[in-house]
Amino acid sequence: MPTLLQYSSPAAAAFSSHSLQLIRSITSISPPPPCSLAALSLFCRRPSNPLTGNFLFSRMERFWSGSGITRNKAMVEQLQSYGVIRSKRVAEVMEKIDRALFVPEGTPPYVDSPMPIGYNATISAPHMHATCLQLLEENLRPGMHALDIGSGTGYLTACFAMMVGPQGRAVGVEHIPELVESSVESIRKSAAAPLLKEGALSVHVGDGRLGWPEFAPYDAIHVGAAASEIPKALIDQLKPGGRMVIPVGNIFQDLKVVEKKMDCSVSIRTETSVRYVPLTSRDAQLRGS
Ligand code: SAH
Repeated sequence: MPTLLQYSSPAAAAFSSHSLQLIRSITSISPPPPCSLAALSLFCRRPSNPLTGNFLFSRMERFWSGSGITRNKAMVEQLQSYGVIRSKRVAEVMEKIDRALFVPEGTPPYVDSPMPIGYNATISAPHMHATCLQLLEENLRPGMHALDIGSGTGYLTACFAMMVGPQGRAVGVEHIPELVESSVESIRKSAAAPLLKEGALSVHVGDGRLGWPEFAPYDAIHVGAAASEIPKALIDQLKPGGRMVIPVGNIFQDLKVVEKKMDCSVSIRTETSVRYVPLTSRDAQLRGS
């Protein structure tokens, strides 16, 4: 990956090289191919927002290099102290859903880095999960509907379910059946288990580019893999007043925030630069192409 990518700033390049070294040293694995490094976010050039500027970059870098976190609560407290988690509801849900239940055995669960989960996929880094929860918080109120495309480990789907509660609906869509199976097993061990049992939370095998019409329209849509363009089906399934967070791009990707106004007009803005696995066909993903 480092030889393939160019970076939008020297800080971003240093950040990436630092984080890659960290992943290698922590997991003792050989570096995964470029397409399996998901959600390695490169925070850069957004001085108007202290959360996404080099301000955060330098603070997060200190956080990462000093990371010896062994408890879920300590991870949440770190993310709060660095300003990534800003609301009580996001802190609460990330405390209740223990990330350790969702990472493969032998993987350090609380290190702020994406980790391989097999099938050329990764679980996103804690700060990326927190960022997406913050961006979607207002659209994850009790009773609302949330869709998690590329649900992978099921971590965010479980968080969404806890936030929308038993009167709401959280739906995960993932195209690797084995990941759907293991995500359901993880959710069963988590605080979201009752919601799965009652049917307020469900995870489905499917092509996420088509959304999941059964429970549309959605107040919140999260896409955990990078699309070359925003799939129309997802915009169609967004409720008026709804919000979607989706990484868009190929090598250079931006996390886009898509809002559907009450008159059904759509606005799109860029939150930050990111690095996710592609939103693609199952075959292409398994081939690693
Ligand atoms: N949010 C997840 C991210 C997993 S990585 C987590 O943190 O656990 C992205 C996921 O998107 C992978 O599991 C991959 O299999 C899935 N994916 C990629 N393209 C897809 C598609 N077209 N439909 C459904 N899932 C897809």
